[in-house]
Amino acid sequence: MDELMVLDNFIAGTMVPCKRLLDSYNPSTGKVWAKVPDSGKLEIEAAVSAAKRAYPNWSSMSAQRRANYLLKVADLLESRLEEFAVAESQDQGKPVWLARTMDMPRAVLNLRHFAHTIPHQLNTSSVQPEAGVFNYTIREPVGVAGLISPWNLPLYLLTFKLGPALMCGNTVVAKPSEMTSVTAYMFCKILQDVDFPAGVVNMVFGLGPSAGEALVTHPDVPLVSFTGSTVTGRHIAQATAPMFKKLSLEMGGKNAAVVFSDCDLESCINSLKRGSFINQGQVCLCTSRIFVQRSLYEEFLEKFVAVTKELRVGNPSDESVFMGALNSKPHLEKVRCYVKYAIEDGGTIVCGETIDSCVLSEENKNGYFMRPTIITGLSDDSRCMQEEIFGPVTCVVPFDTEEEVITRANNTSFGLCASVWTSNLGLAHRMAHKLKVGTVWTNCWVIRDIDMPFGGVKGSGIGREGTVDSMEFYTEVKTICTKIS
Ligand code: NAD
Repeated sequence: MDELMVLDNFIAGTMVPCKRLLDSYNPSTGKVWAKVPDSGKLEIEAAVSAAKRAYPNWSSMSAQRRANYLLKVADLLESRLEEFAVAESQDQGKPVWLARTMDMPRAVLNLRHFAHTIPHQLNTSSVQPEAGVFNYTIREPVGVAGLISPWNLPLYLLTFKLGPALMCGNTVVAKPSEMTSVTAYMFCKILQDVDFPAGVVNMVFGLGPSAGEALVTHPDVPLVSFTGSTVTGRHIAQATAPMFKKLSLEMGGKNAAVVFSDCDLESCINSLKRGSFINQGQVCLCTSRIFVQRSLYEEFLEKFVAVTKELRVGNPSDESVFMGALNSKPHLEKVRCYVKYAIEDGGTIVCGETIDSCVLSEENKNGYFMRPTIITGLSDDSRCMQEEIFGPVTCVVPFDTEEEVITRANNTSFGLCASVWTSNLGLAHRMAHKLKVGTVWTNCWVIRDIDMPFGGVKGSGIGREGTVDSMEFYTEVKTICTKIS
């Protein structure tokens, strides 16, 4: 049997073992492969206090010097990209090729991009000759930032917070998901290897209600950036509201695709196949409601089902699989439950649901696999059309008119993103303006520019992340007005 990886917390630049440990499973085998600290208040207290001690030096350092540190980390991470991609796959369940081509390059970019851009964004100035004054603004870091991240894109989303938080001069205590802590731990070793200043980044592993809660409610943590489910986000908003913390919440989605009959069908189907099932459907931006104009509905469904049936599911290290394993057994059970709800609510399972166990190797037979699943025949108020499933399940329904589909697409408590498929540019823009979401893709899906604001409305989030938005969030702006005559 392979040796278990035992993770330590990373506090004040040192690996600190924790006596209490949690099991972390490899989703593709169903076996424990790592032990993760089960930290609580004491560990968070030590980490916050290390971050406070490191704050005066780090926050007063020039942005250029901070950038040099981040660039060193990015270079070393890039040089170990394959090792990180394999570990992310073993920890999370995604195919290695996906971690190699998406997660890890993006983690490197998250550090490099903010290192290059934030030094140019921080300060502005103006002169008012008639008043004889010179104004300028400075952006100051907020303090010790508490960063909470989920399991679906572990290092990708953690570095999307770390990059800007650090570049703006904050010190950090991060609590990655207890389900996927391994690459964050490996990242701490890189910080040690580049002599990153001690205490600037502290990583405390453990469960949400203990370690996470202690971090977000800590009185010396004035800023919390959270990515995760709407239920947890709501709880954090309630718990932190009396403390007036700066809060960013990136939460769940129930994203619609609206397919008009004049679209480029082949390109639309290829994108929606990826958009519904990539990363086992566990991307907050995945499409889970597909509205198809009635005249195209039958043809769309037939072709969409055909390409979906061809998707290979299996061992994540097999380069030819499209989908690996779902992240955990309880999550697989939850997703399968939604398929049962769909049947109870009158839906038809057109393809998918389970995986024929004989296509899995002996090694993977206890892994958390399921086939990409397409459901039809559901009403808009059914559970699968309203609640976030966060798995490889998408619902396809017909619509008739533009006005009707706008109302129906907006009819959920979420508002993260949507996509619109049509060759009519005017229609695409009308739809984009009327959909109540943070991002609309027209004739494409998840082409991301890190400069562009990212986030949701309604139950999908508060705040935006991206070059300027992250810089604004991780700083406080101060105006200084000086009389010059
Ligand atoms: P989750 O809410 O269960 O957990 C997210 C993180 O919060 C974990 O680190 C967890 O330990 C921590 N946590 C849990 N309870 C806490 C508490 N009381 N106090 C502080 N921290 C606590 O979410 P998940 O299952 O890990 O992730 C999946 C969810 O994340 C989905 O809803 C998905 O849509 C969402 N997500 C959103 C985005 C986005 O950008 N909008 C991106 C990725 C994932």
